[in-house]
Amino acid sequence: MDMRRRGRQTGVCHAVHVTPGTPHSARIGEEPCFAPGEGEIALKVLRCGICGTDTEIAQGLYGASPPGEDHLVPGHESLCEVEDIGPGVTGISPGDLVVPIVRRPCPEACDPCSRGRWDMCLTGHYAERGISRLHGMLRERLTDDAEHCVVLPARLREVGVLLEPLSIVEKAIEETMLIQTRTGVPLRRALVTGAGPIGLLAALVLRSRGLDVAVLDQRPDGSPKARIAQAAGARYIDDTNQPLERAAAGTAFDLVLEASGYAPLVFRALRRLGRNGAMVLTGVTAGHHTIELDVAALNQEMVLENQVLVGSVNAARQHYEAAVRDLSAWQDSLPGLAERLITARYPLASFEDALKKDPDGIKSVVEVAGP
Ligand code: BGC
Repeated sequence: MDMRRRGRQTGVCHAVHVTPGTPHSARIGEEPCFAPGEGEIALKVLRCGICGTDTEIAQGLYGASPPGEDHLVPGHESLCEVEDIGPGVTGISPGDLVVPIVRRPCPEACDPCSRGRWDMCLTGHYAERGISRLHGMLRERLTDDAEHCVVLPARLREVGVLLEPLSIVEKAIEETMLIQTRTGVPLRRALVTGAGPIGLLAALVLRSRGLDVAVLDQRPDGSPKARIAQAAGARYIDDTNQPLERAAAGTAFDLVLEASGYAPLVFRALRRLGRNGAMVLTGVTAGHHTIELDVAALNQEMVLENQVLVGSVNAARQHYEAAVRDLSAWQDSLPGLAERLITARYPLASFEDALKKDPDGIKSVVEVAGP
């Protein structure tokens, strides 16, 4: 059970269950459904996006059950519809589209958590819906605190499931832009490594902010990833056909956003950073990957060129709100493009297929409420 006060139980619904730490434990189970209590809203889950974190949870490499429970309901990228509102809830009505925020403040209410910056939590005791200590959205219904949900305009019904991954991108780019205010010089050239959902959403945001963007992946020109990067106005680099070092010879990037999580590429991309450049890492990868690295050269380059390497995880409400603004703007400026990021849809009963990797696939979603 989640650690919140509840309304009365109204029934049960289907849900995906995993046993964290146990590989291939995912199965369909049942979860209790509740009427919304004080400050809560009852939600019908429309769809749920699947990301690398879900795959790692399913493989037993990541994730934690809520205290006192032996399973976790995964699913942290969702789009839900409000079915009912509890006492004291204002500004949200039945029928509204909402996305529950993934991370919840730590019980100690550390400084960042108490200021709404749970993404910067100092204790590490936060909970994350569908990932750690709090059930997620791969289930038909749930109740949540209204204050931890973001309301979306109805026109984002088809693309709103991209809000959570976009919030990650918004935070990473905000961090990098804040760092770059130290130079007083506008950013001009960006490199994005990895053309998955995070990388392509990053390309879209950076293009919207007026930067020249190159996106690198290992799929051929003409592949869906390459075509979406190009439709976003970015240059596409197929690293297999023409390695980054050759494709971007003579180009120094002001900003590099790493979204592949592939360690050797991280350090190759770092070497493409120009003077005063900043590189932000967004890929969460489990396990180990050893590479040989000339750290002396790297140290010298980073010092002599005022370079910054920063990691960025999760997102605060402000980043979800920025994501709502960008997704809405793209509906007008780039109609149909965000929709193309969703490349596969599965019913809840086939959620395991959504966890399988397709090198040309971008975002798989589980249509929890049916087509
Ligand atoms: C989620 C973040 C979360 C991170 C670490 C990512 O997949 O999008 O919200 O903070 O995993 O658990």
